[in-house]
Order: sequence, then structure tokens, then C-alpha cells
Amino acid sequence: MNFLSTRGGAPPVSLSAAIAAGLAPDGGLYVPARLPRFAPHEFDDCATLADVAGRLLAPFFADDALAAHLPAICAEAFTFAAPLRALATPDDFVLELFHGPTAAFKDFGARFLAATLARLPRAAATLTILVATSGDTGAAVAAAFHRRPGVRVVILYPDGRVAPRQAHQLGCFGDNVRALRVAGSFDDCQRLVKQALADRALAARVPLAAANSISLGRLLPQMAYYAEAALAHWRAQSTLLHFVVPTGNLGNALACVLARACGLPIGRIALATNANRTLADFFAGGDFAPRASVATLANAMDVGDPSNFERLRWLHPDAAALRREFIVASIDDAAIAATLRARHARHGEVFCPHTAAAVCLLERLRRDGVDGAWAVAATAHPAKFDRIVEPLIGAAVPVPPALAELLARPSAAQSLPADYAALRDALAAD
Ligand SMILES: *Cc1c(COP(=O)(O)O)cnc(C)c1O
Repeated sequence: MNFLSTRGGAPPVSLSAAIAAGLAPDGGLYVPARLPRFAPHEFDDCATLADVAGRLLAPFFADDALAAHLPAICAEAFTFAAPLRALATPDDFVLELFHGPTAAFKDFGARFLAATLARLPRAAATLTILVATSGDTGAAVAAAFHRRPGVRVVILYPDGRVAPRQAHQLGCFGDNVRALRVAGSFDDCQRLVKQALADRALAARVPLAAANSISLGRLLPQMAYYAEAALAHWRAQSTLLHFVVPTGNLGNALACVLARACGLPIGRIALATNANRTLADFFAGGDFAPRASVATLANAMDVGDPSNFERLRWLHPDAAALRREFIVASIDDAAIAATLRARHARHGEVFCPHTAAAVCLLERLRRDGVDGAWAVAATAHPAKFDRIVEPLIGAAVPVPPALAELLARPSAAQSLPADYAALRDALAAD
């Protein structure tokens, strides 16, 4: 399959080329030339998440040099489960996406991208994977590429705006992973990475690749867990499974949207953002107006300019139709905190603040009389956000073993001003 730019000004490229390039040369995002259409029974013989991923992604890999490697890539990336569990409230579920090495859903995409890049032909020079993170991406990418030969990872994160345990994770890998804490916001980090990727003089000396949520190598595999959950529900109940997705850059949500567009038995899709209102204001009828991000309890969603919006517009070119297609709500910190407190007090349930935003939206939909089976994408383990969650629920959150192992390692980061010249010098220095 070929991949095209959302802006229509770039030649079609293969999947390998689209993954290697990150951004299309016209500044757009790569999207598949067409979407495959599956019927649920085509997955009947898929026993594992890796099997579902292999079947679902095969059309996207068709004709590409990587096609023969797809089963091995899936086996390497999908080594942990994404269980669908019932909540205490009837017909409500959580899709737990936090059982990977860094306890957030981004492990799926980062591991798939790493397994893919390892199988692409590459120049002799060390490839630098540059990643801006609002907290969880950096750790997932670091874990996925840690000690892989021929690559180094440079992480930029907003100093003081990530949770202490997130910061610890970012700095605990060492070896080929370097963490830079930037005196600025996540949007500053993202801007610096974009500037570096567009700097041809730098690229001639330091080969660079991106690993942000615009990467197809992260986006496509995320469809698999929505597919698996919806297929399991379809087999058991013969009804569509609806989803609420906590949303920042729209990477995770877009995977759900794409899986539905490929014929998977997914019903309605609701997006819960935090107090960063860019998406909510657009869906309420306003312009799409990117703005500076504000800091919230759900920091991995502190995004003022959701980068995958361009892909959503490509799928739904008509703005009015797009607004009708999705439920979008902005959930502020007070509502996130109240949801965390109340779900724990009433049901003994504990979520991360991002997941809590989605649970809050689901509760609102239920109050409005929305029925059917709904699953909330649980994007991170609550133990990653202990300083927020524990005081609210008044109880300790047990740390999963993979996270405990990372927290036991020493951690170090270098500081960087939010200034491109400083980043360029840091990248060229070694
Ligand atoms: C990254 C992240 C999100 C937001 O995902 P997007 O793909 O950026 O929309 C939500 N929750 C957690 C825990 C995250 O790490």
C-alpha cells in the first residue's frame, strides 16, 4: 500500500519510506492511500493480540519490504496483554493499556516502531531518535530503543511539568538514552524537535528520526488493541463496543477511529480532553485554534495544538460532518479529582488522572441516558501518578513490578533552555 500526505503536495511513498521520514516533505502527515475493510469473522483464528495486529496491519504492509517481517515485528512488540475488564457500573469497561514496561499505552506504539526501524535498511551512522514528551512517550521510546545498536534516543521534556515518577523514568535508562529537561512547556519541546528535524545542515551531520505520535509506526499498531477488545465483545454479545479515549495529541484516539473505519465492530467514539480546550472548542462549533497548553492533573494530555488533527480532517473533510461524528468534552481538574475520589470511595476503583477524565465523560454520558457497552481506554497505570492519585483517594497505589524496577535505578537529566541553538549544539556535541 502507498501512503499520501494529508496536504496532498508530496509523492506517494511506501510504508517503509513513510515510517522512516516521519513528516511528509510538504509538511503534512502520511495517511494510507485507502483503508482496508474487514469483517469480524476474518479474525476468528487470531488467538493473541499479536495475531490480531498481524492480520489487521497486513494490508498496510502489503508490497512493502517489511511485509515479510510483519509477524516477527508483531511478536516482538505485542508481548503484553491489553485486558478488557468490567467496571462496577453496569455495561462499563476499561481497556487496560498499561501493562507494558513503562506502564502507559505508548509502550505498544514505541515497541512496534523500534521493531520496525530495526528491520529497515539504515546508513552506517548512528541514528538519533528525537522525541518530545509530555511525560509518557519519552519513557516508552527510551525503553523500546534502550541498548539497541546503531540508535540513540534524545528525549525533551518540560521541566517541572511531568510527574516525579515520569521524570525518574525518563532519566533512568542511560547508555544510548539521554534526557533533556527543557525550561518551557511541552509545546516548546515539540517546536524544538520540529526545528531540528527540518534543519538540513544538522541532518547532514547527525541523522535524525522522530518518534512522536505523528509517526505511522506508532499510530498503526495502536489499532490492534481496539480491534481485539471490540472483536471479543462482538463474539460475546453481538453488539458494537463504544469507546471513550483520553485525548491529547489524538494519536490513541485516531487509532480507534481508523480501526472502526477498517470495519471493526466499534460503535461510537468519545474523546475526553483535559482543560486544554482546542479540540472541545472546535467540536462545539468554533475554529480549530491551536494555543499554548495549560498544565493540568492529566499532564500527558497537556496539548494545545493536537498534531494528529490533520489526519482526522483527512478522514472527515467536511467540518460539520466531523463535528457530528464524535462526542468531545473537556474535563477540568476539579472534575478529574472528583471522579478519582468518588470512584475509589464508591467502588474501590483507581485510575490514572487521564483515564479518570474519560471515566468522568462516560459518567456524564450515562447521566444523559446514553446506553450500550462502553469501554474507557485506561492509558496509564495510576502508580505513575502517585503524587496526584494517592492524596485524592487517601490510599497507597501498589506499584507494578516493571515500574518498580525502573524506579529503583538511578536517574539523571541535563537542563536545556527552550532555545533551538542550545538543542542543535547539544545534538551535534557528541
Ligand atoms: C499520551 C497519553 C495520553 C494522550 O494520548 P494522545 O495519543 O496524545 O491523544 C493520554 N493518557 C496518557 C497516560 C498518555 O500517556
